[in-house]
Amino acid sequence: MGPSRSNRGSRRPRNRAEEPVLHGTWTEEELRATVSAYLAMRTMEQNGIPFVKKRYYTELANQFGRTEKAFEYRMQNISYICALLGRTWVSGLKPAKNVGPHNAPIIERLLCELDGQPYTGKAAFEHQVSRYQTKPVLPTPIGIQEPQQRYATNTSYGRDPKVKAWVLMTAAGHCESCAQPAPFHATTGDAFLEVHHLRTLAEGGSDTISNTVALCPNCHRELHYGVNQAQKREALYQALPRLVRE
Ligand SMILES: [Zn+2]
Ligand SMILES: [Zn+2]
Repeated sequence: MGPSRSNRGSRRPRNRAEEPVLHGTWTEEELRATVSAYLAMRTMEQNGIPFVKKRYYTELANQFGRTEKAFEYRMQNISYICALLGRTWVSGLKPAKNVGPHNAPIIERLLCELDGQPYTGKAAFEHQVSRYQTKPVLPTPIGIQEPQQRYATNTSYGRDPKVKAWVLMTAAGHCESCAQPAPFHATTGDAFLEVHHLRTLAEGGSDTISNTVALCPNCHRELHYGVNQAQKREALYQALPRLVRE
């Protein structure tokens, strides 16, 4: 699988003993350091600790011999991968799509590894979807008759069923974001709402009623992927006194 590789990333590996190369292929080491710096900034932002992005770019630029701008742009690529994964991204680093088919899976893998999450290839897959959608002509694809199972594992967290029950009972069949009734009833007879952690468990959020809301599927997806996710999240903190920022 995979789209035809662009030839942009296929230069010979650069030698750091020579002059700094500004464009060539990024090494795993460079990408790892960049993702790591990105996650450090994200943690500080989430904890309300002030930080200066430029300092990180400067440090990386000195370490690897690329421009600060190159690292800033790479960070925006990382925001894009985070956005595809439905994870929080650093607010000042607007997601930039053109990651390149070579780097997207590497960045995703590093993000998952450094974040303690299983790598599923989801972002790299969505990135390919996005790239194919920009093609002027996309012939009807043959598809895969028998897709092979590739990723059987998933991280799960020991959650408290009482928290979910309490939040659902409090929501009483209405989305706590848009206040609309649940869009349908599940086969079990229950009004169908999803439970969402405002600070995700993967990001160290707690499984408590002060971090959890019950949402209709639309609002839930919007909180993960929507362009107005920050405002929507803020509105929940304003509307529900039980919620506490983590
Ligand atoms: Zn809703
Ligand atoms: Zn969620």
